[in-house]
Amino acid sequence: MARVNNKKDSKKIGKFDFKDKKVLITIITVVLIAVLLIGLCFLKSKEDNAKSGFSIVGTDSKIEVTGLKIETASVSLEVEGEAQLNIVVEPLEATDKSLSFVSTDGNVALVDASGKIKGIDPGNCQIKVTSNSNNSIVGEVAVEVKAKAPAIVNSGGLTYINGMLVVNKSYALPASYNPGASSEAMNSFYAMQSAAANEGISLFIVSGFRSYNTQASLYNGYVASYGQAAADTFSARPGHSEHQSGLAFDINAADSSFAGTPEAVWLANNSYKFGFIIRYPQGKESITGYMYEPWHIRYIGVGNASAVYSSGLTLEEYWGVDSSYK
Ligand SMILES: [Zn+2]
Repeated sequence: MARVNNKKDSKKIGKFDFKDKKVLITIITVVLIAVLLIGLCFLKSKEDNAKSGFSIVGTDSKIEVTGLKIETASVSLEVEGEAQLNIVVEPLEATDKSLSFVSTDGNVALVDASGKIKGIDPGNCQIKVTSNSNNSIVGEVAVEVKAKAPAIVNSGGLTYINGMLVVNKSYALPASYNPGASSEAMNSFYAMQSAAANEGISLFIVSGFRSYNTQASLYNGYVASYGQAAADTFSARPGHSEHQSGLAFDINAADSSFAGTPEAVWLANNSYKFGFIIRYPQGKESITGYMYEPWHIRYIGVGNASAVYSSGLTLEEYWGVDSSYK
């Protein structure tokens, strides 16, 4: 009985049975597949590294920045506008491709760490670009910041630019627009009149608000007397007169006798302080569409008038519009 058992045991120790063999083959197969897969991955990564320029032993060796490719040599943007600089650091495999940006005039434009430029005020400046890892590699971008394009708003047939009512040969008022003289403009005129009187200057209005119909008969009378081409240089067609806006006044004498008088000189030098401008200046006839009229003042408010006065521009130039009959 015991011998039979021993025989049975020795058989078990000396030879694997069928079940054990199957397990072993499975283990060997799994190991072989794993070794094969690891080998393939190793070869693949070696190939990738070769492609990107890294040697398999040199992944920690530094690759220097050698140049900057600036996609845009100059940038033009508006006040409050933004522009993104697009700069390619060479070579593409460089270890540290980070850059620093500095504006040469922060009053004109600012730049952030990502190379995004923001326009602050009209003017010109440069953005200097430097490689952080190699500060001998620098670039420069010229920046021009332009004044914001004015917003032109049309409301009920009236045109406004930056809140100012536009009336000229290009922009008309509806025939039904009949506001009378603006009380704000009148009060400003009275303030100006007393300030001028304190300096011995006498100012008075000879022509203020004119309705569409009044302007029509005035203009038609001039056309009958002088012909349309001549009339168009000094008289507005109905709907195109600033006098219909209630914001324009003719002072003292609406003819060339006013030019050069102490009153005309005072008006040219001081009216902006009260919100008025000389609307049709000398030498700007082709821009305003009218002859020099030192007596015709237009109310636009103190802030606007001061800005227009110091710019030396006509309202057309200040707004960026033309003045011609379409
Ligand atoms: Zn006038």
